[in-house]
Amino acid sequence: MVIFAVHLHQVRIEVEADLCEDAPQPFNRVAVKHLAAILGHKDQMDVNLENAVPSVPNVVVIVHRLNIIKDMKRLQAFKYELIPTGEQRRRMSRFAGSCRFVFNKALALQKARYEQGEKKLGYAGLCKLLTEWRHSPETAWLANAPTHPLQQSLKDLERAYANFFAQRTGFPCFKKKGWGDSFRYPDPKQIKLDQGNSRIFLPKLGWLRYRNSREMLGTVKQVTVPASGGKWFVSIQTEREVEQPIPQGGAVGIDMGIARFATLSDGMFYAPLNSFKRHEGALRKAQQAMSRKVKFSNNWKKAKARVQKIHSRIGDTRRDYLHKCSTAISQNHAMVCIEDLQVRNMSKSAVGTLEQPGKQVRAKSGLNQSILDQGWFEFRRQLDYKLAWHGGHLIAVPPQNTSRTCPCCGHVSADNRRTQERFACVECGFEENADVVGAINILSRGMQKLRDERQDTSDASLGCASTARIACEVSGAVRPPAAGTRRSGSIRLNA
Ligand SMILES: [Zn+2]
Repeated sequence: MVIFAVHLHQVRIEVEADLCEDAPQPFNRVAVKHLAAILGHKDQMDVNLENAVPSVPNVVVIVHRLNIIKDMKRLQAFKYELIPTGEQRRRMSRFAGSCRFVFNKALALQKARYEQGEKKLGYAGLCKLLTEWRHSPETAWLANAPTHPLQQSLKDLERAYANFFAQRTGFPCFKKKGWGDSFRYPDPKQIKLDQGNSRIFLPKLGWLRYRNSREMLGTVKQVTVPASGGKWFVSIQTEREVEQPIPQGGAVGIDMGIARFATLSDGMFYAPLNSFKRHEGALRKAQQAMSRKVKFSNNWKKAKARVQKIHSRIGDTRRDYLHKCSTAISQNHAMVCIEDLQVRNMSKSAVGTLEQPGKQVRAKSGLNQSILDQGWFEFRRQLDYKLAWHGGHLIAVPPQNTSRTCPCCGHVSADNRRTQERFACVECGFEENADVVGAINILSRGMQKLRDERQDTSDASLGCASTARIACEVSGAVRPPAAGTRRSGSIRLNA
């Protein structure tokens, strides 16, 4: 749907299509400024009378659109639970242990080099050392593990360093047994997949059976074997060509909150998750039981397994809920606007420093725990890639005053929001649920951002005319202006 502002008695005038006012088409938002031309169609010629507008005008419009129908690569991972034999299970534990050992040994080496003022060893240098370790008598057991996964853990270390230097994360730390045990096969040539018989062949493990919960699509790029909650999984990263989809639905703003997980600008909302709270009691009980056992005894190990199981169940429920929400939203909207919250800052400790102690420490730490518990970051990540799959867009907008601005008159005041859930404008008297108001404001800010972007790109995109390929005929107005009035109103056309 495209909106044109048209003087109907002007034939052959070029008009600028306003894509942003209410129904944007984000995929062609970088389109040219003079997007459409009104031609002298016979039905349109009837509109030459100065003061008359037919109730259903037909207008032919040539719309230049970017060539959007093209193939794109989609990377997707498919995760299955493995059903290993006892021997395979023992081997997988050993492989994960070997990878951890290599990672930690390399990290210790880099640290030592740094302290002696030497340069950090690169990936190739580390790989050479790995070969030495595999052949030295003390660590000869490393030779039992497949080579590629060991090299991959050196790659992981490289990435950890790169992230640290880019100030994305802290300094890489040593890996601990039971925390993120996994290893990765990067070479698809060494992997065989037999979906019909629900089995996968991995080097030095042989054929492994897995729970075939869904069909895997595309070609295998690499395979990761992680352990979680006492179970082993296989995560198959794939790549396939898909047709660039045309997004479905319109634009929506989302307000993230504690009382409601997500509120949409159309009034729909998702209940809070609080998966941790629901399992809090069970978790505390299990942790207490574990603390009463003698450390490293058999009963302690059993109690520990129970604690881990509850932890992984918390993770599972959260992931499941987030996936359901993000799938539903991304399937039904072409553009989603969301607050650009720095969750990392918000969930920082509220205690502060000795010189600057924080205020309302207790309340804030409660809020922070809730934010982490809700998985906002993960939700945003999922929305981003799922919208891209469906041809849509995610737009992050600055969060200032979204809950205090009146969407009706634009008045900004803290008084607009006397209570947590009710918004009532002190200027114009507009009333609505506070979360819905927040979502509406986020949506209109997203629109504004699009408009600004279009201003910036309109000059640069003039060259797009060569890629314009669709000439479409549009007819029929959804909202005809009242007959007998001469106006240069907005006419909505179905494109
Ligand atoms: Zn107002």
